[in-house]
Amino acid sequence: MRRVAAILLLLATGALLRAASTDYLLGESVRQLGLRDVARQGSDARSSERYATRGGLALYAEYSRDFIVVDGIKVMLDDPVGAQRGHLTISKRDYDKVFVPIFWEGPRVAPRRILLDPGHGGKDTGKVNGPFKYTEKSATLDTAARLKLLLEKQGYEVFFTRTKDVFLELDDRAALASKLGADLFISLHYNAGPAGDTSADGVETYCLTPAGQRSTNAGKAKSTTAAEPGNRFDSANALLAWSIQRRMIRATGADDRGVRRARFAVLRTLSCPGVLIEGGFMSSRREGALIADGAYRQKIAEAIAAAVGDYASRVRPAAKAGR
Ligand SMILES: [Zn+2]
Repeated sequence: MRRVAAILLLLATGALLRAASTDYLLGESVRQLGLRDVARQGSDARSSERYATRGGLALYAEYSRDFIVVDGIKVMLDDPVGAQRGHLTISKRDYDKVFVPIFWEGPRVAPRRILLDPGHGGKDTGKVNGPFKYTEKSATLDTAARLKLLLEKQGYEVFFTRTKDVFLELDDRAALASKLGADLFISLHYNAGPAGDTSADGVETYCLTPAGQRSTNAGKAKSTTAAEPGNRFDSANALLAWSIQRRMIRATGADDRGVRRARFAVLRTLSCPGVLIEGGFMSSRREGALIADGAYRQKIAEAIAAAVGDYASRVRPAAKAGR
C-alpha cells in the first residue's frame, strides 16, 4: 500500500515538474521527497536555498555550484544547480541519482556479508609517506583489520580481498565479491597530492559514476559513459558513499572533499553495492602524520563501521521509488 502511494506521489509530482522544464524545481523536489522548507538564504534570493527534513537532514544548494550539501556533506552533482524564475533547479539526472537515493530510497537488501578491499599490495605499494616511512598498502591493510573487528561486533560476516602483502589485480578484487556472495564492497585507500605538495588534504568517498554521467575524477578512470554491471546499484552506491563520507568527516574533522563519482576498475564490475574511500592525504604534512598513527586509523575504521550501520538502517525493500 505504502509502495503504491509512494509511486503515485512521485509520478504525479514528477509530471507537474516535467511540464515546466526538463529540470526540476529544487523546492518541489525536496518537498516531494519528504523534506520541509526551512529557509531560503543568501543576499540574492536566487543564489541559495536551504531545507531540512523531519528527520533532521539538512540540504543546502547554491546557484551554479556543481554540488549540494546534505547534512553538512558535499555531494557532487552531474549538472550545476540552475535557476528558473527566482527558484533553484536541479536536473532530472541528479534528482534520480542523488536526491532519491539519499533522501528517499534505501537499499533493497540488508547487508550481511561485507568484503573489505585493502587497496594496493605486494609490488604495488600505493602512495609512500617519506617522513613517517609507511606505505599506502600497509595503512589500508591495517585499517581493514580494524574495521573487520568492528563490523563483526555489529554481527556482519567480513571477508578481505587480501590479508597479506600480496599483489592483486583490480578485476580480481571485484570478482571476489561475486564469488563470496558479498552484499557490500568497501575499498580502502589513502590519497596523495602532486609531488612536493604537502598542503592538499581531506577525505573523499567514491561511488561508480552512473551511466551517461560525468565522473568527478578525470584520473585513470575509464571514460566511457555506458552502463557497467555495478550501475545496477547506483542508488545504494550513492547512499552508502554519502553515509560513509558523513561519518568520516564528523569523526576526523578532515576537509570534506565530497561524495564523488568515478569509473574505478574495482567498482565497475561489482555484483553488489560498493564504494572506494580515500581516507586522507598521506602527502599532507598534517594528515600524513595523522594517518601514520594507529589511533587515527581506528577513528576512520569506527566511522566506516558506524556508516554501514546507518546504511543498513535504511533498508526499505518495498520502497521502489525509481522512475
Ligand atoms: Zn590507492
